[in-house]
Amino acid sequence: MMKCALVTGGSNGIGRAVSLGIAKLGYHVVINFRSNTEEAEKTLSMVRDAGGSGELLRFDVANRLEVESVLGGWIDANADNTIDVLVNNAGITRDNLLLWMKTEEWEDVINTDLNGFFYVTRVVLKGMLVRRFGRIVNVASLSGLKGVAGQTNYSAAKAGVIGATRSLAQEVAKKNITVNAVAPGFIHTEMTKNFNEKDFKQIIPMQRFGTPEEVAEVVCFLSSEKSSYITGEVISVTGGLY
Ligand code: NAP
Repeated sequence: MMKCALVTGGSNGIGRAVSLGIAKLGYHVVINFRSNTEEAEKTLSMVRDAGGSGELLRFDVANRLEVESVLGGWIDANADNTIDVLVNNAGITRDNLLLWMKTEEWEDVINTDLNGFFYVTRVVLKGMLVRRFGRIVNVASLSGLKGVAGQTNYSAAKAGVIGATRSLAQEVAKKNITVNAVAPGFIHTEMTKNFNEKDFKQIIPMQRFGTPEEVAEVVCFLSSEKSSYITGEVISVTGGLY
């Protein structure tokens, strides 16, 4: 029997750092990604080079049928293995002012960042309830707490995930399943590669962007046995920015 952790969007950026950190906790990491096989293979090699074990599982979290067939199929085929940790990390941005926002920009972000959480968690939760153990960590955003101009779609999705975190935490607490969220600020990844750090760092009290590893540390703590009495919380990792 293998104790597994599923990291959605685990192939790059914050997800890659989380995959590495969770492998170090001793879990077999199931690294989900959507399209970039090269980066996914790189992450899996990094996990193995660090002495961990893992595998890739490609599906689009925004596609309900694909989540049910690919992830549901993995669970059926791995009756001896358990997903004890779920990190809902896959996310995208499609920034625009609301007045100019295209329907696809709204829908793509809601489908990936909010509906993806629902489709994946619903499939994984069943086993956690049966085994009476689980750690669910949702990667939200400061944008979902305070709102950011140009991100009404993304703020709505991330605020939705934060609300869902608090509600689900109350539903499953008695089954020893914790549900928490992490709200990063500006982190160096593909998502922020076109941001000019010089302009933004003036508004960040710590005067720099964060690293994926700094977010992963908190995600790994919330995924570990050590956070056993913390649930329904949102922890900001923002260098003091609000
Ligand atoms: P990233 O470097 O762009 O990585 C995104 C990851 O998600 C990739 O592995 C990507 O896989 C995967 N992904 C995207 N859409 C997917 C889908 N529909 N199904 C499955 N996987 C999908 O982004 P990041 O900055 O690490 O972001 C990770 C999370 O942190 C997101 O939820 C984001 O909203 C949140 N966040 C980031 C920041 C920041 O400053 N970077 C701040 C606050 C919150 P492919 O490459 O194969 O598509």
